[in-house]
Amino acid sequence: MPCSLWPQINKAEYSGVWVYLEREGNRLKDVGLELLGKARDLAQKLGGAEVGGVIVAGTEEMAREAIYHGADKVVIIDNPDLQIYTPVEYAEAIARVVQKYKPEIFLIGATKRGRELAPYIANALTTGITADCTALEIDPKTRDLLQIRPTFGGTYLATIRTPQRRPQMASVGPGVFPKPPRDANRTGQIILEKVEIQKRRTRLVSVEKRLEKDVADLPPVESADVVVAGGRGLGSAEGFKLLIDLAKLLGGTVGATLMAVRAGWAPPTRLIGQTGKTIRPKLYIAVGISGAVQHLVGVTGAKIIIAINPNPHVPMMENADYAVVGDYKQILPLLLEEIKKLKGQ
Ligand SMILES: Cc1cc2nc3c(=O)[nH]c(=O)nc-3n(C[C@H](O)[C@H](O)[C@H](O)COP(=O)(O)OP(=O)(O)OC[C@H]3O[C@@H](n4cnc5c(N)ncnc54)[C@H](O)[C@@H]3O)c2cc1C
Repeated sequence: MPCSLWPQINKAEYSGVWVYLEREGNRLKDVGLELLGKARDLAQKLGGAEVGGVIVAGTEEMAREAIYHGADKVVIIDNPDLQIYTPVEYAEAIARVVQKYKPEIFLIGATKRGRELAPYIANALTTGITADCTALEIDPKTRDLLQIRPTFGGTYLATIRTPQRRPQMASVGPGVFPKPPRDANRTGQIILEKVEIQKRRTRLVSVEKRLEKDVADLPPVESADVVVAGGRGLGSAEGFKLLIDLAKLLGGTVGATLMAVRAGWAPPTRLIGQTGKTIRPKLYIAVGISGAVQHLVGVTGAKIIIAINPNPHVPMMENADYAVVGDYKQILPLLLEEIKKLKGQ
């Protein structure tokens, strides 16, 4: 039921499926492009609705990339105060654009920033938000967005609707939907919007990110062909360093379970699973990981899984193509030595 204090809306004024396109330096993050592919699919089910994108402080080149991946219209929010990300100001600017263009559906990548921004935006627009959806569908009878996500620790799938408010908002993690093919012949409209926001309220504080530094030269988990991930079984930050060495030798990257992140051995950007990233590498090596369902949902797309664990009966070992029974402290140094020999190092 909508709150009686909320402003009345006319649902008929809303149309189109729009996506927030997050930047990473000078490029768009893949998750936004993946969502454009899903947005096209939903728009088609809504009878050919428009697909739009919003970029904060982006470039025309980025907007063109979005068009090549399925957007019909891209709004670039043009405000020099928004070069550096701060949640309150970004949310205000995005909400103003959404208020102006009135999409029926607004999707956000469930990245660290997306997860922070989405509730601010939903609050500003007095609508709902379903976080971390794993599937999105349209109810053909009502045209409502069906926002599907795991619940009760992954035991059930919940289908959530926003029947009274617009836009219907959902966030979706990286890698959940495939990136649509790039078509450089697609054309679309690019709009520069000079969005005014209230005077800055957030003061930016620079914090040294030691953990991020250790893995800074390794690719993100969602784009690497080889991911070596560690869990609580590593027992220490030193153990995680061995994984970094192995990942580097294999030209891959490192990932982690929630327990390894909570222990402070790996930065949160490396988290794989329901709360973290969904990955589809060619090779996934799970070291000291039990394979809880919340972790496994993030790795079902891996082509080959190797697990190292002294307990052969944990789900990670049972789901692996190659299960190596033993202590990683004995196995990994041998593996590193063999690979180095093979590579002539
Ligand atoms: C709502 C919710 C969301 C969650 N989201 C996520 C998520 O996104 N990602 C995630 O990972 N988890 C998530 N979790 C947590 C998840 O339920 C598990 O608790 C977590 O994945 C377990 O991490 P782990 O495998 O590192 O630790 P454990 O379950 O403690 O497993 C450690 C493993 O290490 C093995 N081991 C011990 N010693 C050695 C050794 N010397 N060599 C090799 N192996 C060894 C043990 O046999 C054991 O199997 C979530 C939980 C909830 C409730």
